[in-house]
Amino acid sequence: MSVETDIKKVLRNIKKSSPGQTEFYQAVHEVLYSLIPLLEEDTKYKIQNILERITVPERTIIFRVNWTDDKGQIQTNLGYRVQFNSAIGPYKGGLRFHPSVNLGIIKFLGFEQIFKNSLTGLQIGGAKGGSNFDPKGKSDNEIMRFCQALMSELYKHIGETKDVPAGDIGVGAREIGYLFGQYKKLTGKFEGVLTGKAINWGGSNTRKEATGYGSVYFADFILNKYNKDLQGKICAVSGAGNVAIYTIEKLYEFGAIPVTCSDSQGTIYHKKGIDISTLKTIKEINHQSLEVYAQVHNDCQYIPLSHYPEGCHQVWSTPCDIAFPSATQNELNLEDAKLLVANGCMLVNEGANMPSTPEAIEYLVEHNVLFGPGKAANAGGVATSQLEMSQNASMSRWSFEEVDIKLRQIMRNIFETAYETSKEFGCEGDLISGANIAGFKKVADSMIDQGSV
Ligand code: GLU
Repeated sequence: MSVETDIKKVLRNIKKSSPGQTEFYQAVHEVLYSLIPLLEEDTKYKIQNILERITVPERTIIFRVNWTDDKGQIQTNLGYRVQFNSAIGPYKGGLRFHPSVNLGIIKFLGFEQIFKNSLTGLQIGGAKGGSNFDPKGKSDNEIMRFCQALMSELYKHIGETKDVPAGDIGVGAREIGYLFGQYKKLTGKFEGVLTGKAINWGGSNTRKEATGYGSVYFADFILNKYNKDLQGKICAVSGAGNVAIYTIEKLYEFGAIPVTCSDSQGTIYHKKGIDISTLKTIKEINHQSLEVYAQVHNDCQYIPLSHYPEGCHQVWSTPCDIAFPSATQNELNLEDAKLLVANGCMLVNEGANMPSTPEAIEYLVEHNVLFGPGKAANAGGVATSQLEMSQNASMSRWSFEEVDIKLRQIMRNIFETAYETSKEFGCEGDLISGANIAGFKKVADSMIDQGSV
């Protein structure tokens, strides 16, 4: 049987065993096809049945979360933790609270996390979790009661050397605090069981900034390879969460001009550059809509979601040199890719997890747009989480600068590993294949070392 026939068989099985999990299928499809050069070179992966083994989570936990809202009404949500792979370290990956969360979404994120974490060069396995709970419009007390209810089940399955969750969409320092408090109450242990904690009680400097900063470092390394840099480049950024905010902040340090950001309600286009302090106040302190940004700055454009042409995302119709999709999965489709190419975009750097559809990627690559895949470009967040785990384990604290230097070095290593691997396997500069092959190889080889567990 050829490698391609093997891949088709695995994908067929997934369609059968996981019907309707479209995002999971999409993520597996992308990874498996990019592994062909490695699988053809070394038959041990086939002999050891690695493709089938690595696409099934080691453990999937789904549970009911009952919590009481401010009116005294009992509400019910679903909680998830998919512990996908522990070949190279304890399970590691964020928790996402968003109404779109379902098993397929958590499995796609957990699957991506295996390779992303491996690529960081650190000892962390892959996992993801979350809930279909919608934090939007909820009071602080409701958020607290929900986090406590979720942890009342989750605590049985996690631990500092077992599984270490963190934040993702809808889960920031506030939620991590409530989750940690409940874990400590239930177990009586003050341990590094979660990352993204506040600095006063075990958090790491630079963790909050790390995904966005890391994404910009990665973009800079790509550009440098082709004798270009970020200076003066017009950048379109999507999202207004942690990743987008600190991408925008770091872009200014490199002399670039970030002109957009977006949330679930609409897009801001600010030609002279996004005002980072207004953005932080609105999103980090007041948890408001971006509409408020337009009230503060009357020289910007606010385009509400309802005004978008069908199937298009406003951010990507903005003329830009570089695009940083930093919001969510499949937010950049073929139509968007066409607009970016027509407007002369030279690089798409993925700050979010799987933000570009397969058709968009194909079009961008065909049109010679450089591409920084999410597994590599956004790995700075989880890498800094591991630095937080290290500090917790050794009861030490590193300064902002120390962590930032380590983060930059990790992003450099990730870039070089992905680039060199692409060269080794005959597709120089294809960072998607380079990242997938390098991330896969370390995990698969470790699985083989550890036997048929
Ligand atoms: N949610 C982030 C990611 O997608 C961070 C995970 C972590 O720090 O464990 O990589």
